[in-house]
Amino acid sequence: MSTASGPQVKGYRISPELFSTGFEKESGPCRCSSNCCSGGVYADLSERDQILAQKEKIKQQMDDTQNRDDRQWFEAEIGQDADFRSGQCIGTMVHNDKCVFLNAKGHCSIQLAAVAEGLDRWTWKPLFCILFPVEITNNVVGFDPLLQDERPCCSTRNEFDVPLYQACKDELTHLLGSDGFAQLDEYYAGLAKKNSSRNI
Ligand code: SF4
Repeated sequence: MSTASGPQVKGYRISPELFSTGFEKESGPCRCSSNCCSGGVYADLSERDQILAQKEKIKQQMDDTQNRDDRQWFEAEIGQDADFRSGQCIGTMVHNDKCVFLNAKGHCSIQLAAVAEGLDRWTWKPLFCILFPVEITNNVVGFDPLLQDERPCCSTRNEFDVPLYQACKDELTHLLGSDGFAQLDEYYAGLAKKNSSRNI
């Protein structure tokens, strides 16, 4: 399906590739291999503070491949980046060749801690972890090709059964709200209509 430019939703521009590429059935982010967690992530400073406020609960979810010293969970340097809510971000440390929060089974200790407390799995997780392989760059919501052609869970195709935006419905609803996601559905339905009238 060809798309010239994407819609504007909740102040973001949505990249056309979210509608023009996608995954085969039973593939995509639902088959996550956690390889995206090997290098860590950049978190908003407020997300770092939120994580540190829950450090004891998070430590309880860590195993012996992880570093329980919370002074070594985040890098020292703070970055400036307008795509983060506070405009400032900080990287998580890598320990044993994986994000300090990733356990040996490939699960995120931050997420495990929230679930153990009976909270939503994403309550304390950095936004960019939640969204991946969707990313935000210069206010454009698009696809992050970090693992394209390396991991099937994060590799999109031009021929697909499920468009990328639908495969990432939970993630995009988290970012844009249900009404924002409904706008993506409307946009995609409009594209499908245009394409079918062209093919008549
Ligand atoms: S914080 Fe959790 S989800 Fe994010 S990169 Fe680290 S282990 Fe992965």
